Amino acid sequence: MSQARTFNVAVAGATGAVGGAMLDVLERRDFPLGELRLLASSRSVGKKLTFKGKEIAVQLLDKDAFKGIDIALFSAGAARSLEFAPAAAAAGAVVVDNSSAYRMDPEIPLVVPEVNPHAIARYKKRGIIANPNCSTIQMLVALKPIHDAVRIKRIVVSTYQAVSGTGAKAIEELEAQVRAWVAGQPIPREVYPHQIAFNCLPHIDSFLDNGYTKEEMKMVNETRKMFEDDSIGVTATTVRVPVFYGHSEAVNIETERKISAARVKELMRQTPGVKLVDEPTLAQYPLALDCAGKFETLVGRIREDESIANGINLWVVADNILKGAALNAVQIAEILGRDYL
Ligand code: NAP
Repeated sequence: MSQARTFNVAVAGATGAVGGAMLDVLERRDFPLGELRLLASSRSVGKKLTFKGKEIAVQLLDKDAFKGIDIALFSAGAARSLEFAPAAAAAGAVVVDNSSAYRMDPEIPLVVPEVNPHAIARYKKRGIIANPNCSTIQMLVALKPIHDAVRIKRIVVSTYQAVSGTGAKAIEELEAQVRAWVAGQPIPREVYPHQIAFNCLPHIDSFLDNGYTKEEMKMVNETRKMFEDDSIGVTATTVRVPVFYGHSEAVNIETERKISAARVKELMRQTPGVKLVDEPTLAQYPLALDCAGKFETLVGRIREDESIANGINLWVVADNILKGAALNAVQIAEILGRDYL
């Protein structure tokens, strides 16, 4: 960003997996920062975090923490967002919230800058913008140009989601379980209902009465909200896998009009924020290990679904902490700074 104006930014949840990535993204994208205020629980008050080589002490996240703040990036869990985001907005900050607290609130825009940047304008009513669920963000970055070209009628998605999506404690748990397994010791288990090392858990977030998990229904409802189309059919199976960083997704779509695999590849090459990785004969396709630390959503394995008239299969991979959370939030903050504040 090149404008002269700077913005005072608070990061609520600065000591967490997403909060740490927010600092990294603000630094890597050279966000025009004035003050940077780091907020977390009483456990972390006084702890020092480093930003651009300088140490900044963590302060308490409370209702009085937002005086003089222009943009508040929240990633401290839904309960804290519900408790403190309205106070931040009342103090004059625009909140970009990473939790699920406000995503389906009709008065609050849910935004992926590559998909529906125009929706940001609706922040004015409540002073809050919601960042979507990580699995929905990367799927829609890949699907938006196809939807624009031939209208998607139905999406069938299966996810393979990294433990970092659960937070810092889950990253530690996978590592501790692998170490214990190698050492022949009992496997420690706290975060997940089953061992995650060497396993796949078809269970992300809690189960609902319809048999789906909340994570699965987030993909359904958030897609409809951001595509502004309640008629689009979406069905999801979300699975936690023993990967540290990077969510992978097998996405099958049925479109209203026919589109070839070649045309989809061309669209992916032209889409900002997407990197086409699709040379299967050279064993080149998107991999979780390759997406870690990257800003792009990787798309490959693009094939026509031969079982229906108008169908496409894709494999979509992105860093869940970056595009799935911190990067998306900072991109929203950049648009706010450039166009609205
Ligand atoms: P995390 O690593 O567990 O970090 C949680 C953060 O929240 C820490 O900074 C923690 O501060 C703070 N916090 C917890 N309780 C608090 C309290 N009572 N008062 C003030 N601060 C408190 O979790 P995370 O993965 O970063 O996720 C944070 C949020 O982002 C969640 O809402 C999550 O749903 C959302 N999100 C995560 C991802 C992902 O891929 N991980 C993606 C999208 C959205 P202390 O260190 O002081 O405890």
